[in-house]
Amino acid sequence: MGVRSRRLGVLWAAGVAAILMVGAALGAGREAALQADAPAQLEEQAAPKLIALTFDDGPRRSTTTALLDGLAQRGVHATFFLIGAQIEGNEDLICRMDAEGHQIGIHTYDHVSLTGLNRADFSAQVDRTREVLRQLLGHDNFLLRPPYGATDASVELWAECPIVLWSVDPEDWRDKDTAREVEHILQEARDGSIVLLHDIYPASVEAALQVVDALHAQGYLFCTVEELFAERSISLEAGQIYRQAYP
Ligand SMILES: [Zn+2]
Repeated sequence: MGVRSRRLGVLWAAGVAAILMVGAALGAGREAALQADAPAQLEEQAAPKLIALTFDDGPRRSTTTALLDGLAQRGVHATFFLIGAQIEGNEDLICRMDAEGHQIGIHTYDHVSLTGLNRADFSAQVDRTREVLRQLLGHDNFLLRPPYGATDASVELWAECPIVLWSVDPEDWRDKDTAREVEHILQEARDGSIVLLHDIYPASVEAALQVVDALHAQGYLFCTVEELFAERSISLEAGQIYRQAYP
């Protein structure tokens, strides 16, 4: 599945949202639609609110499978930053992610901090994981999320791909409390947010699916990191750090 078809999926969803919003605006009052500036207002209202859910530290067969099932039921695409050492034996899960429109990124081979490493040790974490994924998926277009969000000048120089951090972090590793995580995300999330979760905890999987349902009801659409920035006309550059795509 190519980038183009994924982007079209978002555009299609945005189009549906736009039609719904235009319909609501017209129903709200004929006078508004007759005003000279009404088309501009409608165009502004039609811009979809987007959120990118991201999941680190997987894959883990039980929890990642449950998450993929829940996302598929809801028609939602997310982004997975994978640990290289956990790819072997889970190849089918990663191919499923790719086939179902999710984006895949690198979260190092052994989940180590990338700051302070020499070039060879950095390569053994990032380039090695990229190569394993390339052999599995047939391309090497993968974003990097450094563990702990730790970056420095060497990480930025050697990444050879965009570096994606986050803007909403419920710290789901702390107490594995679904209700608290959902509340945190719903309070913090806004148009253009990148949410950090871990698909290795059952509580996080449940929280993610509850958040999708709650924010769908508020008119949000969910997309991959790549789709989020494409919709905002921001081109992702190698070695640059991205935390959100607020309008
Ligand atoms: Zn991590």
